[in-house]
Amino acid sequence: MPHSKNRITLPPMAPGNGRSITWHRFGKAGARPKAYLQAAIHANELPGVMALHHLMPMLADADRRGRVRGEIVVVPAVNPIGLAQLAGNNHLGRYDFLGRENFNRNWPELSGAVAGLVGPRLGRDAAQNVAWIRSAARTALAAMRPANELQALRVAAMKLSVDADIVLDLHCDLEAVLHLFISRSDWPGAAQALAADLGAAATLYNDPFPESLTFSGVNGALWARLARRFPAARIPQACLSATVEYRSQHEVSHALGHADARNLYRFLVRRGVIAGRAGALPRLKAQATPMGAMDVGYAPRTGMLVYHLPKGARVRKGMPVCEIVDPADARGPKARTQVVARTDGILFSRKPDGRLAWPGAVLFRIAGARLLAHRKGMSGLDD
Ligand SMILES: [Zn+2]
Repeated sequence: MPHSKNRITLPPMAPGNGRSITWHRFGKAGARPKAYLQAAIHANELPGVMALHHLMPMLADADRRGRVRGEIVVVPAVNPIGLAQLAGNNHLGRYDFLGRENFNRNWPELSGAVAGLVGPRLGRDAAQNVAWIRSAARTALAAMRPANELQALRVAAMKLSVDADIVLDLHCDLEAVLHLFISRSDWPGAAQALAADLGAAATLYNDPFPESLTFSGVNGALWARLARRFPAARIPQACLSATVEYRSQHEVSHALGHADARNLYRFLVRRGVIAGRAGALPRLKAQATPMGAMDVGYAPRTGMLVYHLPKGARVRKGMPVCEIVDPADARGPKARTQVVARTDGILFSRKPDGRLAWPGAVLFRIAGARLLAHRKGMSGLDD
């Protein structure tokens, strides 16, 4: 089946305005396994767009040669609302202007609707349960009547992703090494292969899913929520859903995009979506660690931010990671407030130097191995 380019029209929010989402299908609709890849739901995060820019011609070529066994849906820039957020010579793209919510929150949580449609039928046949759940999820989405453009965007993306075996939501951070957010249910297994193939320097798992309704969260959590709701039924984790953080916002180049596309392609071969031999799994750079062991550094005050350590650095508990400089204080070094690591681990995310800090602002994240008392009850993605 040839590659097809498709368009979803969103309802306009003002006269004379109208936006659309472009998506691509490679392989045959309904073929398995199905992979869904999207980028830039945070519309100012473009490294994933560059990876998909390089991946799509590879997929089209594989499709022409009859190598795509399953179905691959690619949405290279899923958020035209955020793409249009130009203000004061800046592109924003992370929060909706209308409702002020993070674009990667409040995605449809379908487990209740699915339970209502097929709950009593779920039994001991795992494959049959998967088919019923996917069908019910599609029915639930088809019944939704989105009230505005953003809701229509969310429902449209979910219609393309909800029955996939693999969902990859491509993001990036401000200043970071490549890292993944996954569910513990997928580790080691498919998520470990993903981490190795993509070269993740850190992988953080929710156990089993984030409470906040992120895109990759709701796609993966549907299965875990239903398994929890129907303990007597055999409900597998039928979707590997992950958030891929492609390094830093400014790290967009053809060299990186091409390498990332090759890695994604190899992973799709490894999972049987594309025919071929994936070869030996690359060496895993880091074991997965729990979200509850992730230290998050918050700014205790306002001032000018400067870091002591580069992204990816291995840190020890107590080590100063960055400092906040009070511009009004004339006492030199005494004007600087240190923010220290509260765990041993990998400094996988930070901000660029020279930003303004404000009380409560996130300054860095460290992937540690031991659960942290101060992180208790703070599950969920920060992205
Ligand atoms: Zn993001």
